[in-house]
Amino acid sequence: MASVQSESPLETDRENGADSAESADGAYAAAGQPHTTELTVWDVPSAVIAAERLRFLVGARCGAGCDLGGRELGVYDQSGACVATATLDREVWPGTDALYFAEVETCAPTAAGSHSWAVKFAGWDGEPPHEARAYPVALYVVVAPECEVTVSVVDRETQRPLAGASVVIHPYRGVTDESGNVHVRVAKGQHDMLVSGRGHMPVCNAIDATANIVVRVELDIDRPWVSPEEEAE
Ligand SMILES: [Zn+2]
Repeated sequence: MASVQSESPLETDRENGADSAESADGAYAAAGQPHTTELTVWDVPSAVIAAERLRFLVGARCGAGCDLGGRELGVYDQSGACVATATLDREVWPGTDALYFAEVETCAPTAAGSHSWAVKFAGWDGEPPHEARAYPVALYVVVAPECEVTVSVVDRETQRPLAGASVVIHPYRGVTDESGNVHVRVAKGQHDMLVSGRGHMPVCNAIDATANIVVRVELDIDRPWVSPEEEAE
């Protein structure tokens, strides 16, 4: 999977095992000890279109809960060039105590493939001093998709459309609407398509997107497994 960033900053905190509560008070009692700032990145698209506008969110939180509103973060590409700066909002991210955030808007790399960017916080020397910090941003860049694949997902038995089914044509993805349809734009060529719906067995099909195509997928209900012995009884 190309997606390495979380959907929300709260998830990232859990994954990183960050525990801001522990450092909130006692840890910084010693005068002059620099504060540590945790950075996080979210809403990075799983597939970034080459050379198109790229937006994602960055967040910063001082371990001691300092006000970081108005502070600046820098975004650096693989070669170390600064491609954007973002000024942290005066308000914290809803539901957090001191996670300040900003939207980054920049241009995606022109070369397809994996790119390692970084978000950097310069820190400052003032009282109390704050340590500089960097956080990696993994980008998976693809050429602009040329074909539209329309996928219609139905339950095989009832032939009813399945809403909310997930369709993954790596690195693109989508979710079916109320009528069981989803449109996924892909690059021309052969792809594996994984379709999974709640309570149904997932299926993987090969598709050949030479132009815009329509694919119908029937999913079987995922019944609990019954051994032959049990069935015989
Ligand atoms: Zn601080």
